[in-house]
Amino acid sequence: MSGPGKTTVVIGGASGIGLATARDLLANGHAVVIADLDGDAATARAVELGSGCEAAAVDVSDEASVTALFDGVIEQHGSFDGVVNCAGVSTLSLVVDHDVAEFRRVLDVCLTGAFIVLKHAGSRIVDGGSLVTLSSLNGRQPGVGLVAYCSAKSGLQMLTQVTALELASRRIRVNAVSPGLVVTPLTAPAMDIPGIKDDYLDNTPLGRSGEPEEIAAAIRFLLSDDSTWITGENLDINGGSHMQRYPDIHGHVMKAFA
Ligand code: NAD
Repeated sequence: MSGPGKTTVVIGGASGIGLATARDLLANGHAVVIADLDGDAATARAVELGSGCEAAAVDVSDEASVTALFDGVIEQHGSFDGVVNCAGVSTLSLVVDHDVAEFRRVLDVCLTGAFIVLKHAGSRIVDGGSLVTLSSLNGRQPGVGLVAYCSAKSGLQMLTQVTALELASRRIRVNAVSPGLVVTPLTAPAMDIPGIKDDYLDNTPLGRSGEPEEIAAAIRFLLSDDSTWITGENLDINGGSHMQRYPDIHGHVMKAFA
């Protein structure tokens, strides 16, 4: 089965790429649980998406919250077949100026949170299930001012591979997708700063930003039985940006606020 009858949990599903993924999976026959730090938004989106969609509140950086999420899904559905973890946050600061607590906050959500999700999803998901993590172009390309995010997303790619190795004996596949620029509530504020979007697009061979739906389609593929021999993969989805250089976000911000 590539969709119908599967139960899939989309964490960070109340916004952006996660919301597009939840919508896509529902349209392709999955039962979907949208789980998000913003529980009210998750509930509102689930109501909008309608039949087959439920909501839950979760904080990926809190182990008890993550175990409660997956135990609740099993109580409700008996089992689950897939998890997509889209929870992510970022910050902008040079290494020498970086607040340590702020660095830890980003690592806590993007890396430790991803580990907690894989730990508890991995122990509970059905054999043959599929886990998808959200890394980033910044998992391979360094960006000035993005040390916390780049470190977390790079670590997440190795976390994905180690977990893929360890769960392979149960035919559980674990893959990452790495988007380039997709305009969502996470990235929209930066788009108003002169130069940033142009610099991104200059460095994107296909010459445009991505749509959340384009990331969702790749995630659906990795959850489906069309990808049953793919594990430990990191799929770049960025219009070719990984072959070029990362834009100087920090430089544009400094110029805008000088
Ligand atoms: P978004 O801000 O629109 O959505 C992220 C969601 O995660 C939000 O609903 C937020 O409430 C939720 N979240 C934040 N912290 C959480 C926590 N502790 N526990 C549970 N949920 C939490 O962002 P997006 O652009 O859709 O990004 C989704 C993922 O894709 C992120 O991991 C991001 O790093 C990654 N990504 C995005 C882009 C892009 O250009 N938008 C590029 C590369 C990677």
